[in-house]
Amino acid sequence: MMKHLLSTVCLSGALLLAACEATPPEDTPEDAFSCREFLADQNLPEPTGMYDVTQGSPEAQALLAKYTSFRLTTDLSALSEAECRMIPRLIAAAHEMDAVFWQQAYGDRDALLASIDDPALKRFAEINYGPWDRLDGNAPFVEGVGPKPPGANFYPKNMTKEEFEAAAEANPDLKSLYTVVVRDEDEQLRPVPYHEAYEPHMKAASEQLRAAAALAEEPGLKHYLELRSEALLNSDYQPSDFAWMDMKDNTLDVVIGPIETYEDQLFGYKASAEAYVLVKDREWSERLARYIQLLPMLQEGLPVPPAYKQETPGSESDLNAYDVIYYAGDCNAGSKTIAINLPNDEEVQLQKGTRRLQLKNAMRAKFDKILVPIADVLIAEDQRDHITFDAFFGNTMFHEVAHGLGIKNTLDGAGTVRQALREHASALEEGKADILGLYMVSKLKEAGELDVDLMDNYATFLAGIFRSVRFGASSAHGRANMIRFNFFKEMGAFERDADTGTYRVNFDKMTDAMNALSEKILRFQGDGDYEGVAAFVAKYAQVGPELQADLDRLAEAGIPVDIVFEQGLSVLGSE
Ligand code: ZN
Repeated sequence: MMKHLLSTVCLSGALLLAACEATPPEDTPEDAFSCREFLADQNLPEPTGMYDVTQGSPEAQALLAKYTSFRLTTDLSALSEAECRMIPRLIAAAHEMDAVFWQQAYGDRDALLASIDDPALKRFAEINYGPWDRLDGNAPFVEGVGPKPPGANFYPKNMTKEEFEAAAEANPDLKSLYTVVVRDEDEQLRPVPYHEAYEPHMKAASEQLRAAAALAEEPGLKHYLELRSEALLNSDYQPSDFAWMDMKDNTLDVVIGPIETYEDQLFGYKASAEAYVLVKDREWSERLARYIQLLPMLQEGLPVPPAYKQETPGSESDLNAYDVIYYAGDCNAGSKTIAINLPNDEEVQLQKGTRRLQLKNAMRAKFDKILVPIADVLIAEDQRDHITFDAFFGNTMFHEVAHGLGIKNTLDGAGTVRQALREHASALEEGKADILGLYMVSKLKEAGELDVDLMDNYATFLAGIFRSVRFGASSAHGRANMIRFNFFKEMGAFERDADTGTYRVNFDKMTDAMNALSEKILRFQGDGDYEGVAAFVAKYAQVGPELQADLDRLAEAGIPVDIVFEQGLSVLGSE
């Protein structure tokens, strides 16, 4: 590793080259740039407060036990010196998204934390970015806070849906992804762009990205960082989304800004701030690249009439594996994302496709610490051998590919599927990606493109449903998995053995259920059928008493629901 770093330094300039030739590398290790040491020497505030949670009440400690901790690290030797020096800048920028997301999700972070005495409960509030338990349907856990407003802190608390709809007729900016809605002096609803509403944080993050851009060697990354830096100051994200899709040869990456709309459960209009700092795994990425070639064939094979698959997935789409070294904001709240598909901007998607990011280290954490223990309790003993990391990785990977399939605009030409399905759009889109991902694995296997035992994918998929149902009804992923569980149950895709309380995949019926659910969701989306989806969600997005009892057994067995990350420069610097 030391030798590799030295050769990087030597290649970086003629002056250094002379010095390197003069002394053999092994004699001068102290002159070599060590990324680890460099990061350990940086003085940045740590991401979370330090609380002695063992002093917390038993109730608060039980809440905290829903999460198990995992250290976010990566192979730093894959980075050049310049890339290493960018890391503190990118993490500092990400850190600002934490502050913005607190305001969007709740309001005044410091006042809330100061009002909580119990150190374990304080830590739990940090993990949830507010006083509502994201893994328990946003149940309040701080006395006196009341239920979480469906529109989080994006809208005035006393606003009705009808009032908003009426006002938005006259002022479409109220519906913008990048505005927060306030009441002005005469009680009228007014949109405030994010770069004004969260000005100090957006400015600070923008400066850090500009500083990182100045260090960047790879032109695509430099260009993207410059444009993203501007976007944070003017809330116009599209140019930087295009630049992000054009960037192909970077090793470092950062996803940053207002991105997903899950937090706005009132309308699904408002994007929440978040950030991921990422290091690309080039070897894995090359293996994934070949599946992109197969996208058009997969789109053609979807089990719906031609009108529902008339859009062509972008040919420039790509699929890469990464280690995440920092999570902030929305993606760090409650359940943690293990794969991303971006950008969300439909215009960019239609022109450039999307980029799917598989977050390898985070995925491994969830498989080892959560999925395998769940299978040991809930999957029939003789099917447990089918729970494999390769199947988990495959199912997750194709979930992301599947986001790019299907249709973005409704068949009647009235607009996007997301606009038509409003607050149900996210859950249905996640449900689509899950089921079409599995559908694609089976199609690729059929076509001889994928060498897998489908039973591994099915059994791991079923165990995955239990894992994700535990995210609760407040999560789009949680709702999507409740729907799938009940739909599959109805179709006999699995059976529950009453004696052992375990579930067994019924291979043939699972295939039928998969095809039926794929078609149902694709039709809902193409038809923009808001009423139909609302009824479907109301019927299926439920946890019945039997399932609840089984989920309770997982909690009793001490199986965590999700991960919290130990992350930041001190973690990277101490490996
Ligand atoms: Zn997804």
